[in-house]
This record gives sequence, C-alpha cells and structure tokens, in this order.
Amino acid sequence: MAGDGAADCLVIGGGLIGLLSAWELRRAGLRVVLLERADTGREASWAGGGILSPLYPWRYPDAVTALARRSQSRYPALADEVARTGGVDPEWTRSGLLILDTEEEAAARDWAARGRIALDTLDEDAVARCEPAAQAPGRALWMPEVAQIRNPRLARGLRAAAAAAGVRIIEDREALRIAVQDGRAVGAETRDGTVRAGRVLVAAGAWTAALLEASGLAAPPIEPVRGQMILLRSRPHTVSRIVLHRSRYVIPRRDGRILVGSTIETAGFDKSTTEAAREALLGFARERFPALADAPVEGHWAGLRPGAPGGVPFIGNHPGINGLYLNAGHFRNGVVLAPASAELIADIILDRTSFLDPSLFNWEADRTGAPAAGSA
Ligand SMILES: Cc1cc2nc3c(=O)[nH]c(=O)nc-3n(C[C@H](O)[C@H](O)[C@H](O)COP(=O)(O)OP(=O)(O)OC[C@H]3O[C@@H](n4cnc5c(N)ncnc54)[C@H](O)[C@@H]3O)c2cc1C
Repeated sequence: MAGDGAADCLVIGGGLIGLLSAWELRRAGLRVVLLERADTGREASWAGGGILSPLYPWRYPDAVTALARRSQSRYPALADEVARTGGVDPEWTRSGLLILDTEEEAAARDWAARGRIALDTLDEDAVARCEPAAQAPGRALWMPEVAQIRNPRLARGLRAAAAAAGVRIIEDREALRIAVQDGRAVGAETRDGTVRAGRVLVAAGAWTAALLEASGLAAPPIEPVRGQMILLRSRPHTVSRIVLHRSRYVIPRRDGRILVGSTIETAGFDKSTTEAAREALLGFARERFPALADAPVEGHWAGLRPGAPGGVPFIGNHPGINGLYLNAGHFRNGVVLAPASAELIADIILDRTSFLDPSLFNWEADRTGAPAAGSA
C-alpha cells in the first residue's frame, strides 16, 4: 500500500474496536499504526459489562444479529488466542442470560426460531433451578448460550497481542485532525506532527464525530450516551447467571465480583457518576438478589457509549474522502460486535469478499427500524 516508509493504515482510537481492527489488518499483512489519545482500552471498552449478546436481542435489526452471531462464534477461539499471545486470560464464560421480562415472549421466540438461536421459556420452578439466587417475579426467558468476557482484561490482552504481531501503538497522542490531500486521507495531525499512512480508519468511539468535525469533514450522527455501573464484592457462585430485568442486569464474574448495570443518560462528554444512579442500581441488585444485601460496593463508574441511530454501527468508507474509513457507533454492543466489526472493516479496506453485505453498515444504511438510542 503506502510505499514511502509510512504505514499502510493508521487506526485512530485504541478501544476494543480500534485494537481488534488494527490486529486484524496487521495479520492480513499491512503495516499498521494505532494512535491513542491516552491509554488503550480505558474508555467505553473498559467501562462496559462484557455481555456477549445484545440485551433483548430480538429488538435489533437482522444486520446487528448477523454481526453479533459472527462475533459469538469467534469469541472462544479469540479469547484463547488473546490469553496465549497477549498473556491475559479474558475469562470468556458461558453464563447464560436469564431475562425476567416476558412481555415480548412471542417476538423473542419468533426471532429465535428464525435464527435457530437457543431461547426457552422457563416456568417459576425452572427459573429457581436455573438461578437459585434470583427473586424472580414469575416466568422468564432463558438463553443458555450467551457468554460474557472481562472486557478490561480483553483490552489489555489485545494490546499486547497486537503489539506482538507488529502493530505500532502510539499512546498519549491525540489525533487533532485527519490530514487530507487532494481529497484523500493521508494520516492524522497531532501535536508532534503528522502521522502519515496510506489509509486512515477512525475508531474513536463516542469521539468519532468530534474528530471528523474538527477536521472539517462530514460526520455521522454518533453521540455519547453515558452508562453508569456499580461493582459488588461477593463470593464466587453467589450468582451464576447473567440476569436481566427491566433493562437492569447483573453479571457475575468468576472471582465473585458482580457488575450491576446500567443507566442510559444523555450528559454530553461528562463521565461523572451520580448518587441517584448508585442507589437505583444497588436497589435493583438487592431487591432481585437478597443474598447480595450485605455485599459491599467496590466500585462505581461511568463510560460513554458511542450511540448511533438504532444502535447500528458505521462500518465502511467515508462518503466524501478517499482512503478514510469508520468503525464506530456500536452503542450498547461494542464488546459483542467487536470481532465481526473488525473482520468486516478489514474486508472492506482490503477489498475482500466478506461474510456479510457491507452496505448494511455503510453511511447510507437504513437505521430507522431499530430501537432508538434511549431504549434498551
Ligand atoms: C456501562 C456500559 C455497559 C456496557 N455493557 C456492554 C456489554 O455488556 N456488552 C457489549 O457488547 N457492550 C457494552 N457496552 C458498550 C461497549 O462498551 C462499547 O460499545 C464499546 O466499548 C465501544 O468501543 P470503542 O472502541 O468504539 O470505543 P472506546 O472504548 O470508547 O474507545 C475509543 C478510543 O478512542 C480514543 N480516542 C478518541 N478520540 C481520539 C483522538 N482524537 N485521537 C486518538 N484517540 C482517540 C479514546 O481515548 C478511546 O480509547 C457498555 C458500555 C457502557 C458504558
């Protein structure tokens, strides 16, 4: 690609989307530089919960389901490879997802039948056997194949694996503007000069539109959507399933820690936490799981999801600038969608035939049929 010693591809943003894209492109033989404003994997990709399925997955368009399924099938091998080559085990665990809401049972069952996805309805006794710690309000939907991953570990392992594979990672350096010459992206301007590359991929999460606007370029409608989460300390196996009820959920980690999420807030780029959210999340956990009544709160944080209309990410080329690509806007599902999104953008950049029709995620794709950014 670029023949002058510059990289073939510059990836801007070192979250899970940028790290995986960079790794994928490097493994296809490209010389790749990744530019990260601060430390890699410390924004939404750190703050998220790591459930490897959209919540209420039947509400999403088929395009998102297809991307999720591709990722889900790749995750076990990916987790192994990250543990082996990145030295950090991200603890992929098939916990199953127990959904205590049954109002949309018909739609859920229809969606599952169409896609041959495992989804059962459990009666009260079966719910109690499935997750004895849960105080369930009645019947539930059960998706036994849903897994989780410890996303902060995944990001750490991926950074090491990508670097070991030859991705040049530059941290503490912000891309101030996309450098464009003759209608073609040629790199990014930083305070220490221009980092040049044959192609530029923006994977800057919630900050993607801001970077494009600062560059004087058309920007997709990707907006920050704040999510708060608390972390409870408990003993292993106190809770063993991911449990979802009215958009709140618990995720039990192997070491007994339990994540409780999450809020959906419009607060610009403000990552502060609030007492009201802490109380609401704690109240949910204690009401649904009496065994957590005395579990101490070990952490409370907020992250900024890259919210795109309908939760459908922008994966593809920028409509106005040659050699400029986007992989951003994964909203609530950036962890589960990351491997397939990285594969798809690599296919697009390398002009390879892909596993999915790339037009489903391009700039003009229809994003109206899916749930709005504010819904679960
Ligand atoms: C509370 C919460 C719970 C969630 N739970 C889940 C879940 O269970 N399952 C799931 O699949 N998803 C979940 N998500 C969503 C998921 O975390 C995100 O969709 C995903 O992490 C987005 O990844 P990203 O790489 O696009 O963005 P980020 O991880 O935010 O990474 C973007 C990176 O770009 C860098 N950057 C920005 N601008 C620049 C610049 N100009 N120059 C250089 N670098 C720049 C940033 O510093 C950052 O490191 C959750 C999110 C939150 C907040």
